[in-house]
Formats: sequence, C-alpha cells, structure tokens
Amino acid sequence: MKVTEHIINSNNKTLFSFEIIPPVKGRNIQELYDNIDPLMEFKPPFIDVTTSREEYVYIDKDGLLDKRLTRMRPGTVGICASIKHKYNVDTIPHVLCGGFTKEETEYLLVDCHYLGIDNIMALRGDAMKEEKYFTPSEGGHLFASDLVEQIKDLNKGKYLHEVIESDDCADFCIGVAGYPEKHMEAPSLHSDLKWLKHKIDLGADYVVTQMFFDNKKYFEFVEAARNMDIHVPIIPGIKPIAIKKHLHLLPQVFRIDIPQDLIDAVEACKNNKEVRQVGIEWAIEQSKELKAAGVPVLHYYSMGKSTNIKAIAEGVF
Ligand code: FAD
Repeated sequence: MKVTEHIINSNNKTLFSFEIIPPVKGRNIQELYDNIDPLMEFKPPFIDVTTSREEYVYIDKDGLLDKRLTRMRPGTVGICASIKHKYNVDTIPHVLCGGFTKEETEYLLVDCHYLGIDNIMALRGDAMKEEKYFTPSEGGHLFASDLVEQIKDLNKGKYLHEVIESDDCADFCIGVAGYPEKHMEAPSLHSDLKWLKHKIDLGADYVVTQMFFDNKKYFEFVEAARNMDIHVPIIPGIKPIAIKKHLHLLPQVFRIDIPQDLIDAVEACKNNKEVRQVGIEWAIEQSKELKAAGVPVLHYYSMGKSTNIKAIAEGVF
C-alpha cells in the first residue's frame, strides 16, 4: 500500500515508522531482523531501507595500492523484499541519483515493481567521501527532481527508450527529502523550499524531513512549506542522540543545530549509557509534542540499532 494511503487510513492517528541501513556486505541479514523484531509490536505500516553511496577502497597488490570503487552496504532492494515478505509490511527503498545511470535506475524500478514495492524514496544522495561536491554518474541524474520525473514517467509506461502500451504500469508513491534547517548547499531556506516545491509539482507525494532536535524548526518549516503551496504530508524524522560524539558529528554531517539544553544534558553525562538515556528522553518529549500537534507519522532514524527506538516508542505509542 502507498504511504499516502496508510496516512489516509490512519484516521488522523499518528503512525510509527523507522529507517534501517543495510548491513555491511558479508554480514548476516539475521542481525537486521534481530533489530527489527522488537519494533514490530508498534505496527509500523512501512519501513525505509537506505542506500549508501559507493566509496573507494585500496587493495594491496604486491606492495602497490589498487584503488577500487565499491558499495559497502549493498542490497537495499533485496532487503526490502525480504522484510516485506517476512513481516508483511510495506518497505521503501531509498533510490539515489548518485552512482547510478538512468538506465540502471530503470532496471531497479522495474525490479521494485515486480516485487510489489509501492513506494520509492527519491533522493539525490550526498557527494562521495572523496568529493567536495556532488557529481552525477555519466548518464545519471543531477537532482532528486530529475529522478522524480523518471519515476512519474515510468508510472505512465514511459521507459527510457520508448512509451510502452501496458496494462501493468507501475504506480509508485514517491517520497522526497525536506530540510527544516535547509539543505547544506542551499543558499537560503526559501531557495531550498522552492526546489522542494519543484519536486512536489513534478509528482512527489510526501516529504520526510532531515532529523531536527528543536520542534520549533519543524513547525516553522511546515508553515513555510504550506505558504508556498506545498500541501503533501510532511513526515518528521527523529534521531535520538546516542553517544557524546553526536554533539559534534551530527551538526558537521547534517548541518543541523542542537539546542543548548540538550547539549548541557549530554555534556553532564558520565558515560554513553547516560547519554543514550538523555537521547531517549529528549526524543520522547519531541515525539509527544509532534504527536499532539497531529503529525501523520513519526519516522525514526534507527541507524541499525533498535533498543533506543523501542524505548522511545514505548514512551510515545
Ligand atoms: P535535491 O532535492 O536534489 O537537492 C539538493 C540540493 O540542490 C539542495 O540544496 C536543493 O535546494 C538544490 N536543488 C534542488 N533542485 C535544484 C535545481 N533544479 N537547481 C538548483 N538547485 C537545486 N542519502 C543517501 O546517500 N542515502 C540515503 O538513503 C539517504 N536517505 C535520506 C533520507 C532522508 C529522509 C533525508 C532527509 C536525506 C537522506 N539522504 C540519503 C541524504 C540526501 O541524499 C542528501 O541530503 C543530499 O545531499 C540531497 O538529497 P536531496 O534528495 O534532498 O537532493
């Protein structure tokens, strides 16, 4: 079922969902199931599975280093299929512009259609670790909006090589990213919202936000989006702080602010067990306020670990 249908069917009840990351290649998928199992009691209607950018690895070859490009966490679509069938839940693969040609993206979308996957999260992807700026693959998309267009075309039976008369067209519901504290490359929040609107105008059906720790940022973002005629559901993304290092890492990677009260509480912790507890309590307070404000879904970034997400869900749902 589509995310938008889940939201309509919920009758204004806030839904619980979360995002997982594929295991590093060579690891057992059971580890992933072990982290999903404890969260299923909260009945997520859908689970997102991220896609990682490819990266360079260096292989020692007789004393010389051979530079090779590889994706360390492959398997997004396979994991979506396995979770969908194991738990009978909708799964949403994150599909990236970065690292894929349009042709490869088309094959991936066709696979998703055959697997009965109804939703796609359409993203540009970040620059590779070694790059300063995002560079598309040769024959790939430059912006998430281009990917939205390709998916909408496929929904109409328009493939890259021709329009195919078909009685079995895909009908993907499309999610896109939104940034309450603006995307790091955008010159202003207004400019970023303009491009978000462009994605919606091209056919995106809902937005999931970047993590934020101050609900005011989310509420202001939603208001600004509505003022710009963006009327699709805007799902807040919540990440609990789990280690002291997050205080520096999260602002550096995601260009987000952390409220001073949260910084003070984390800095006062004697160890990461205490930090985890502070992170859980903060996320519960954030979630309760968002739920009271009637958000359609609370979407949690699990980063592959479920214990803190379970503790939050117990406090909220
Ligand atoms: P876009 O919408 O293309 O925007 C990128 C930048 O370009 C923005 O600054 C925007 O304002 C600007 N822009 C957009 N269109 C135009 C245009 N036509 N002309 C000029 N400027 C334009 N990354 C991963 O690698 N894997 C994941 O699984 C993943 N999941 C994510 C899930 C969520 C909910 C979020 C919020 C982010 C996720 N990301 C993921 C990170 C995302 O890929 C990065 O933030 C990336 O830098 C931007 O992606 P986007 O889809 O927002 O890009």
